[in-house]
Amino acid sequence: MKVPLLDLKPQYNALKKEIDEAVQRVIESQYFIMGPDVAKLEEEICSYLGAKKAVGVSSGTDALLLALMALDIQPGDEVIVPTYSFFATAGVVARLNAVPVFVDCDPITFNIDPKKIEEKISAKTKVIIPVHLYGQSADMDAIMAIAKKHNLKVVEDAAQAIGVQCKDGRFVGTIGDIGCFSFFPSKNLGGFGDGGIVTTNDETLGEKMRIQRVHGMEPKYYHKMMGGNFRLDALQAAVLRVKLPHLDSWSAKRRENAETYTKYFVEAGLASETGKLIFDASNKVLLPKAVYRDSGFKNHHIYNQYIIRVEKRNSLIDFLRKKDIGCEIYYPVPFHRQECFSYLNCRDEDYPISNCAAHDSIALPIYPELSNEQIKYVVDSIAEFMKAE
Ligand SMILES: *Cc1c(COP(=O)(O)O)cnc(C)c1O
Repeated sequence: MKVPLLDLKPQYNALKKEIDEAVQRVIESQYFIMGPDVAKLEEEICSYLGAKKAVGVSSGTDALLLALMALDIQPGDEVIVPTYSFFATAGVVARLNAVPVFVDCDPITFNIDPKKIEEKISAKTKVIIPVHLYGQSADMDAIMAIAKKHNLKVVEDAAQAIGVQCKDGRFVGTIGDIGCFSFFPSKNLGGFGDGGIVTTNDETLGEKMRIQRVHGMEPKYYHKMMGGNFRLDALQAAVLRVKLPHLDSWSAKRRENAETYTKYFVEAGLASETGKLIFDASNKVLLPKAVYRDSGFKNHHIYNQYIIRVEKRNSLIDFLRKKDIGCEIYYPVPFHRQECFSYLNCRDEDYPISNCAAHDSIALPIYPELSNEQIKYVVDSIAEFMKAE
């Protein structure tokens, strides 16, 4: 049986007629830059998330870059980021000649550990960027309290978390000063190429980002401030508008798939429950835990990725790939160990949890259209690997 890590074709096939019509409409109009679909998508995202302003942009990475530019991040300013995330979270900081300051992650969620933030704050710290990794909220109560105490801004990297609710029901990306989202095809709401959006409840910041999206230009050819070409394509906006109404049902399917994995892993004797931290005879596989499951809000987790941990991770990957099962490591190298950040002289021993996560975690297929038979095959294959060990 073949189980790809992600298969986008069933989603497209289910919406083919509507999507093709939307794309055709843009092509007929020959209106490719900005225009009505981008404006409507921004409105629809605002009402979906309960945000005041949204500005469609060229990617999740550019969303983060634009957010930091709007907050006037200067060379030498320090920005706190988790060491365990996709590169863009730290890359945008360094591109502005600001200093990314890395913080270790929580052992259960792999999200930034709020208990380890304050020791990294200095007189130069300006912003904290929590990442809502894999599709569940970072501990925003704790992070917002620290930000308030030290007068810092908060930019949420919600690239993997569109539609996620934190424990009080608010959508991530609307809690800090600016929320950043990605429409990369593999995200829960994916376009047909690169795209992203920033959200804010601060009208002034929203207006500033709208101007900076187009080279800081207002009116035409008069440049008030530094900006760039951070525009979202009309074609992407048209596709995303067709997909947005389905986002919640796709995320619900991902949650169901996660429950099915738990059931099969427990039945196979490979795990006793979710959220265990130590390998033992009845937990050869450590299962991810939805920490806000009891919040009562359905989108407590949207499983952009489903991450398990095993001791012999690299051999398991080889084994699964031979069995036609897609899997991946998110992420093999935390930022503090990246060559491009060696100039920061980070102390490796400050990041024990991220180092473990990078060593033993593995992402399994979780996309909405996955069948129970496929999930069973993945779990059976892992059981077969464990038995042979
Ligand atoms: C995908 C992702 C990004 C970047 O988004 P792009 O649209 O690929 O530029 C940033 N941060 C995180 C955590 C991501 O997963």
